[in-house]
Amino acid sequence: MGDQVLDLFPPGSTVDQATGYLTVAGVPAPELAEAYGTPALIVDENAVRARARRYADGLAARWPESRATFASKAFPCTAVYRLLAEEGLGIDVAGGGELTLALAAGADPAGLVVHGNAKTEEELRLAVEASAGLVVIDNFDDIDKLERILAEPRYRGREQGVLVRVTPDIRPDTHEAVSTGQSGSKFGLLLPDAERAIARLRGSDRLRLDGVHVHVGSQILDTKPFAQAVEAVAALGEFDVYDLGGGLGSRYTYGDHPPTVEEYLDAVIDVARRQLPSAARILIEPGRSMVAEAGFSLYRVVSVKRSGGHTFVAVDGGMGDNLEVSLYQQRFEATVATRVGGGEPCRLVGRHCESGDTLSADVPLDDPRVGDLIAVPVTGAYTYSLSNNYNGARRPPVVFVRDGRHRAVVRRETYADLMRRDLP
Ligand SMILES: *Cc1c(COP(=O)(O)O)cnc(C)c1O
Repeated sequence: MGDQVLDLFPPGSTVDQATGYLTVAGVPAPELAEAYGTPALIVDENAVRARARRYADGLAARWPESRATFASKAFPCTAVYRLLAEEGLGIDVAGGGELTLALAAGADPAGLVVHGNAKTEEELRLAVEASAGLVVIDNFDDIDKLERILAEPRYRGREQGVLVRVTPDIRPDTHEAVSTGQSGSKFGLLLPDAERAIARLRGSDRLRLDGVHVHVGSQILDTKPFAQAVEAVAALGEFDVYDLGGGLGSRYTYGDHPPTVEEYLDAVIDVARRQLPSAARILIEPGRSMVAEAGFSLYRVVSVKRSGGHTFVAVDGGMGDNLEVSLYQQRFEATVATRVGGGEPCRLVGRHCESGDTLSADVPLDDPRVGDLIAVPVTGAYTYSLSNNYNGARRPPVVFVRDGRHRAVVRRETYADLMRRDLP
């Protein structure tokens, strides 16, 4: 049991022989709780770097004219942008906020891909002003707005590279809230509309149509939808750039067996070799699978209550720092950090005033007591980005661990932070 839950923590995580403590990147969990308090989001820096290299090198080995791009909404924290920019990845941003963060972290503007189904004129102007490499056209209004911006005298002679986002009518087997490739999706243009947008952009002298983009959803656990997506964009004709999106799933629980990065790359590049022009440039945009498994959350038990046949183990965080359960019914495993694995089934719940504030409805915990540390693995993706101040929760710190050392890259919010935007 101990070994099984350990497998969900970053590679190299151990149970310290002397103390029995969960130890990640050489750092025992209690040391992190002592230094930064709880709840805390811990990230194994080397695990993120290793995953970035696996994506970048694996893609380059299969298709040299290519780039791996981090879909930053999965973890939009300046330190994470910096780390992935250092690894040479491009950065996907949706909206002015992520664009600003990426630039602040030193990302190369030429490697920015600007997404969104509702980009305001202000946001598009920010992208043009920053010389963002690619803007992804999601609707005809994007074209109108960009044409208008680029007609301004200050941008005389400028050409903005764009991709057209295509909705191929593929419905991957994932939660409805994170499926984006089906007809009826709010994202992208269905094939006939995509063809109209392409024709219009080919006639534009301010927008340069570089190619097409497709992204069919998130937490996808088989390779088929990815291969189908490549076939769909291939059918649109020949372009310089094909952006194949993200969406590879992560292993949250024992029954999840997502394709490996290599299996995923083999599947998409196999179709690409047969159906895309050999001189084309391929982009991929992993988000979740870049960071999810590198992170874990650390909580402290506040109360243990036996009621109605359940053992409720209540911790000092919950839906304020992890909305994945409420939004997508994501299953998470957990362990007492000082007695790893095993135990009786418990209902691990948060501190927020909703019954849905459950981190795990049924997870074994070994004799949980008030004051114990609970570690929840695979929380590196979409937890920081979706964290909130519900019930006045102070958003947790982000702590990087590496080679036996640790450092906070984001501090915990303070109660004063909760009032910082108030006006007198
Ligand atoms: C969210 C998103 C991604 C990343 O999806 P993951 O499931 O996190 O890999 C990639 N591209 C676009 C356009 C997205 O919106």
